[in-house]
Amino acid sequence: MAHIISIANQKGGVGKTTTTINLAVCLADAGNRVLIIDSDAQGNATSGIGIQKSQVEKDIYDVLVDEIPIKEAILKTNHQHVDIVPATIQLAGAEIELTAQMAREMRLKLGLEAVLNDYDYVLIDCPPSLGQLSINAFTASNSILIPVQSEYYALEGLSQLLNTVRLVQKHFNPNLAIEGVLLTMYDARTNLGAQVIEEVRKYFGDRVYDTIIPRNTRLAEAPSHGVSIIDYDPKSRGAEVYQELAKEVLAANGQ
Ligand code: ADP
Ligand code: MG
Repeated sequence: MAHIISIANQKGGVGKTTTTINLAVCLADAGNRVLIIDSDAQGNATSGIGIQKSQVEKDIYDVLVDEIPIKEAILKTNHQHVDIVPATIQLAGAEIELTAQMAREMRLKLGLEAVLNDYDYVLIDCPPSLGQLSINAFTASNSILIPVQSEYYALEGLSQLLNTVRLVQKHFNPNLAIEGVLLTMYDARTNLGAQVIEEVRKYFGDRVYDTIIPRNTRLAEAPSHGVSIIDYDPKSRGAEVYQELAKEVLAANGQ
């Protein structure tokens, strides 16, 4: 049965999509079958793993709003054992359209049931908001992985995120857990980074991963080539740290 992880933080630009793609590839290289769900209308996970959005016929919108079978929307990527349900700009309408529909919070959970035995991990790249798309992701997930940018306002907004987690636990998914908190874009040249790490560890304790993702230009370059950091520059620091993260995730899940 697939272990389903939402990669979530309602702040934009904290490393959600980068983490989704690179963790997916590292988990696949460790022998797992991985499905990425792109749940952001920007479709950055889709293009970042090499799918041309203009070629997409069915996407996550069709699964959520029109309830098509999810298998019709799954595409293979260039990386072995990594599949994706892509997103295109039509997803931008889903928040509003879902609001008027029955059992709207359960759409992704119900859709995923058909493929739970086909994958070991499902990673959901969440949008930068706490609306219906994130609630669908949290309702469908075993856990959420929270990337936190190593900057001064790192903790800002996290209480809102945790409130949403509590609401989803109360109403739709009592077993939703925190998979882990990941410090991203760490800059060793500033003192600020070290302060932020301490602050985040004080708040989240041992739920913070030992692995810290540094700022690494190779990580920022890879998406424009439509590949993960592992395929773009396997010797880079960025590739190393995402492999370390994957080991921590696997160990936490008994692998
Ligand atoms: P989100 O999905 O949370 O909006 P992204 O993963 O898209 O965030 O990251 C935002 C931007 O920062 C992207 O341009 C990405 O390539 C870049 N980026 C992400 N992580 C790093 C990193 N560790 N070092 C340098 N650039 C990064
Ligand atoms: Mg993103």
